[in-house]
Parts: sequence; C-alpha cells; structure tokens
Amino acid sequence: MSVRPTPPDGFATTVPVAIVGGGACGLVAALTLADTGIAPLVLERDATPSGSTGLSSGMIPACGTRMQRAEGVEDSVDLLVRDVQAKAKGQADPAIVEAVAAVSGPTIEWLVDRHGIELTLVGGFLYPGFSALRMHAPPSRQGADLMGGLLRAGAEAGIDLLTDAHVNALFADPDGRVRGLQIERPDGGGEKIGCGALILACNGFGGNAAMIRQHIPEMVEASYFGHAGNQGDAVIWGQALGAAIRHMGAYQGHGSVAAPHNILITWALMMNGGIQINRDGRRFADEHRGYSEQAVDVLAQPDGIAWQVFDDRLLALGREFEDFRQAEAAGALRHGDDENALAATIGVPAMALAKTLAECRKWAAGKAYDPLGRDFSSQPALAPPYHAIKVSGALFHTQGGLVIDPLARVLRPDGTALPNLFAGGGAACGVSGSRVWGYLSGNGLLTAVGLGRLAGQTAAALVAPC
Ligand SMILES: Cc1cc2nc3c(=O)[nH]c(=O)nc-3n(C[C@H](O)[C@H](O)[C@H](O)COP(=O)(O)OP(=O)(O)OC[C@H]3O[C@@H](n4cnc5c(N)ncnc54)[C@H](O)[C@@H]3O)c2cc1C
Repeated sequence: MSVRPTPPDGFATTVPVAIVGGGACGLVAALTLADTGIAPLVLERDATPSGSTGLSSGMIPACGTRMQRAEGVEDSVDLLVRDVQAKAKGQADPAIVEAVAAVSGPTIEWLVDRHGIELTLVGGFLYPGFSALRMHAPPSRQGADLMGGLLRAGAEAGIDLLTDAHVNALFADPDGRVRGLQIERPDGGGEKIGCGALILACNGFGGNAAMIRQHIPEMVEASYFGHAGNQGDAVIWGQALGAAIRHMGAYQGHGSVAAPHNILITWALMMNGGIQINRDGRRFADEHRGYSEQAVDVLAQPDGIAWQVFDDRLLALGREFEDFRQAEAAGALRHGDDENALAATIGVPAMALAKTLAECRKWAAGKAYDPLGRDFSSQPALAPPYHAIKVSGALFHTQGGLVIDPLARVLRPDGTALPNLFAGGGAACGVSGSRVWGYLSGNGLLTAVGLGRLAGQTAAALVAPC
C-alpha cells in the first residue's frame, strides 16, 4: 500500500474522479458525481461488491425526512447532533456531526426520489440514545438490499465500476496532490490509471489484525464481523501523504452475536425487556447503554459469553428480523417452560437465574432501582415460558481514521486540506469519539452515506470544467 512518485510516462487512461471502494460511501459519492455530469470510476477489490455495507442491517439514521413526517415523528438536525454528541461524550468534531446530520435527510429523499432506492422508516422501538425514530432502511432490513439498490442505480446512471480491481498504490506529487493509482488484478496483472481527484471509500482497518493489535488491543481476540477486505488502506495512504488521523481506538462492537452460529441477534430484544446474564446467571451491565460497549462486557464474562434471555412476547418481535429467523433455523434458541427448566437447559445455576428474574420483576414494577442503572419500568417484566440464545461480543467496524473537514477533504495535522483527496465512511474519522462507548447506532452508515454525498459534491466542484 505505497504512495509513489508519478510515473514519468504518465497514464494511459485518466478519469476525472477515482473512487476506491464500492460500498455505501463509494457508490453514494459516485451517484452524486454522475448527477452533476461527471463520470467517476469506482474501483472495487471484490468480484461482487458488498463491503461491510452488504453485511449490515442497512439502517441509515436521517432526520427531517418526509417518511418521518408521515409517521408524525418530530426530529431535527439539532436533535440528531445532540444524540450523537451525547453518546460520544462531546468528543466528536462538531463541524462534522453538524454536516452529516444536515445532509442526512435530503440524502435519503434523493436516494429514494432520484435513484429509486427503496428506504422506509423503521418503527417499533428506539435504538439506545435515540430521541426519535430515524432509522431508514430497505424493507427487508438487510444491507444486501441497500447494496442491490445502489448498484442498480449506479448501472442505470452509467457509472463505471471496475470489480476485481485491488488498488495497491497511489501516485502523488510531493505536495500530496494525487495523480493516479495502480490496480492489481486477481491474475497478477495490473494497470495504472490517472485521476483528477481521489475519494477514499475503502472503509477502516477492521480486517487488519496488526492494526487492530496496535490501536484496539482489547478486541484482538474478538471475532471480526465486518468485511475482510477492509485493511486500513485509507489510513496507510493518507499518512504517507501527510494526512492527520484521529480516534484510532474508536470502533463499533456488538454484544449480541449468536455463538457459535455467528449470526447477529437484534438488539431490539434488549431494548424491549430482554436481559443478558453470564454463565453464573447474573446480569453484568446496563444493556440500554448500547450494544457497542456491551461487546467488551460480554467478552469479559467467564468463557467470553452471555445468555440473552427473553420471553414469548420478544420471541415474536425477534422473528420479525431475518437474522433472528436464520439463528432460530440454525438451532441457536433454547427454551424453558419456567426459570428452573431454562436454567437446566442453558447450564446456569437455577437459584441465581431465579434471583435475577425476580429482581427484574421488582424493577419493572417500580419497586426498586437496578443498581446497574437500567430503567426497567417502561417495559413489561419477562414472563414464562422463557427463551435464551448464547451470544458473544464481536468487532463490527473501526471508527477512527483520516481527519476530514465538513466538505470531506482530507486534512493535514496543521488543518490545511490536501489538494484533491477526499474520504468518507469508515476511511474517515467518524463521529463516535475516541472509544467503543461513543458509537451511537447507525453512526456507520450515517457517515458512509452522508460523507459519500459530501465528498461527491466537493470533488464535483473541484474537477468541474470552468
Ligand atoms: C454485521 C454488521 C451490521 C451493521 N449494521 C449497520 C447498520 O444497520 N447501520 C449502520 O449505520 N451501520 C451498520 N454497520 C456498519 C456499516 O456496515 C459500515 O459502517 C458501513 O457499511 C461502511 O461503509 P463504507 O462504504 O465506508 O465501507 P464498505 O461498505 O465496507 O465498503 C468498502 C469497500 O472498499 C473495498 N476496498 C477496500 N480496500 C480496497 C482497495 N485497496 N482497493 C479496492 N477496493 C477496496 C472493500 O472491498 C469494500 O467493498 C454494520 C456493520 C456490520 C459488520
């Protein structure tokens, strides 16, 4: 992943804007450019673009949309900014939070109206830290369908997407102006392509074990649930070009991955009354802080696992989610007619489980308060029969990266912008502060889609003929 001087013989082909990575960020940037009449080239290492976007639940936070208004949801840029900063303990760059919040609603409506991508408002429950219903997702709640929609829209817009094209080097001038890149093909062949501007949309470094060891040592042993091709190339190139990086210890974890099935179990179960207990039958953390930091707490339990305990009401809710249905079909669910039967089935001490459930009933009735800090009073207490799924904690994606400005321009440590380099999504420093606890649900696609849009707009202005 080197940065080299521009080859003396130049490039056989030069495009106005090259985009590394064909996930949500890269494709939104490409659609934005195509709408302004500029033909970008998207370079994607895989044969079939997926990225982490394709593995995700496709939930994009956005405020002030007509989908929200139709449901009577009151939301605003200010409210979204406040929620993001409250979770990040005020550590996110205020200008970036403001920029992605402001562009979020119009971008969702543009994707739907201009490009026919089906996105609906996700109802039913509020994610931890959300003041309003604001997740917009494909009806299936599957990132694969979001990718399907973006790829179809890209094809209809005539966007050139080169697959099996692993970008392995950049060419740049001493002042950091990117002149081109080199791709490597699966057969070992390669090509050099010139560009007027470059957008790094190749996500973070979740797939790079050495970088995880360096920046996020607490997740070295955790399984990585994101796309393996996200190897930290943006950070490596950016640093070689003189860019600043920030919040490299920030990431999205998830404390609810079925073990050993490796299937995501929706956090809706926890937000609606479910609990997590350890092998000793005890709760160990406030599940309502968020699923990201819960990953670390789950991994710290004996055997690095927890049991997600819920009842028939929540079983019905879980079955609304495709991942949950897959986990059920794969045999991840355990059942017990009462607490003793459940304890025997999952192998936790019956007395401890009975005590935990009795305490939760007391808290739900408002008779006492959970010392871990969760408010149980807004949901009915769990009632038999009970169900349980064994889960572990996982690393989903990294949130630290290249420092950018609100126009998605990559910045040097002195705050000046590199001449023609842009970054978004997991390639850029996100809005989740410095650690795992700063990740508000949806921050991943908020910045992939929002910064993809902004990078596309700024790059278009840079390369547009005068
Ligand atoms: C299981 C799971 C569920 C999630 N659910 C949600 C959710 O519901 N909502 C949410 O907001 N976030 C979610 N996230 C996070 C979200 O998926 C990511 O934040 C988001 O998809 C990042 O988008 P991106 O475009 O930056 O990267 P990606 O979608 O990962 O795209 C990057 C692309 O770059 C390519 N690439 C990398 N290096 C190179 C190279 N050198 N040359 C060429 N191509 C390269 C990769 O192959 C990849 O296709 C989830 C993550 C996971 C793992």
